[in-house]
Amino acid sequence: MIAVQQLTKRYGRHTAVEDVSFHCEPGTVTGFLGPNGAGKSTTMRMICGLTPPTSGAATVDGRPYRQLPNPGRTVGVLLDASAQHAGRTGRETLTVAAATMGVNRRRVDEVLDLVGLGPAAARRRVRAYSLGMRQRLGLAHALLGDPRVLVLDEPANGLDPEGIFWMRGLLRDFADRGGTVLLSSHLLREVEAVADRLVVIGGGRIVAQGDKDDLLAGAGTVVRARDGAALRAALHRAGLTVSDNSEGLLVSADTDAVGEVALAAGVALTELRPAGGGGLEQLFLALTAAAPATAIAEPAGEVVR
Ligand code: ADP
Repeated sequence: MIAVQQLTKRYGRHTAVEDVSFHCEPGTVTGFLGPNGAGKSTTMRMICGLTPPTSGAATVDGRPYRQLPNPGRTVGVLLDASAQHAGRTGRETLTVAAATMGVNRRRVDEVLDLVGLGPAAARRRVRAYSLGMRQRLGLAHALLGDPRVLVLDEPANGLDPEGIFWMRGLLRDFADRGGTVLLSSHLLREVEAVADRLVVIGGGRIVAQGDKDDLLAGAGTVVRARDGAALRAALHRAGLTVSDNSEGLLVSADTDAVGEVALAAGVALTELRPAGGGGLEQLFLALTAAAPATAIAEPAGEVVR
């Protein structure tokens, strides 16, 4: 279980993360989504005690990371796959970590096997690893202490499609056995396939969170009119968030609300339908386009309007 409560991080006058709150429950994979620079890494670093928050708090299994007696046994962390010592072999990296954590050395072979690093790869120095191999080693390191929680920042970076497919299976299996996974990505497809819940961040603020299926169902409305300018103006006057979509305007409201606004403004519509069919991509684009100016925190399960 991960609990993030009103985390804020400021660097001088720049706010990297503002008032971010969410929970990750056992048995679930939470996808932490947002474009580059949105604040994902900063939030994850605060969860893992590497960056002190300006305000707010985060706990893993009820305690701040820094107060966990042997953190690697509670939470496996992969924040930067390139952070491993380049002069050590993969096996040495894990053996040193196992000794630090008090984990049996046999576990090193188990996790090497689990992440698909064979004996030859394990004997090579990390400096000779591709980014994909470093991610696998980082994941092996995260799994080494047999934790119940995983925090992984962009773990699919550098993996080929087969590797991404493999990782999804591994994370799904981890969660299905009662584990808690928080997984960040700037790529929607990577997360859409594996996550149960989504937390979407833009400009340092949460713009939507909830069950993936609920969020997709609440992806807004696609609407078109011959007089697009009049429609857009009416929607703006009604205080709705509007963004351009290849098929028309994407509005963060249901079809009833959008239809009523158009009727009241005397705009004849040529199309009005739920946007859900377009998948997460539309939701993601709409939300991140709207952030941060219009983002206001709302309870879980709501798309913030
Ligand atoms: P993401 O992981 O979503 O790509 P980050 O959390 O890395 O985003 O960054 C969020 C914002 O905080 C960015 O604007 C970034 O430039 C800024 N930032 C991150 N770390 C620092 C730092 N150490 N000093 C100053 N600004 C930072």
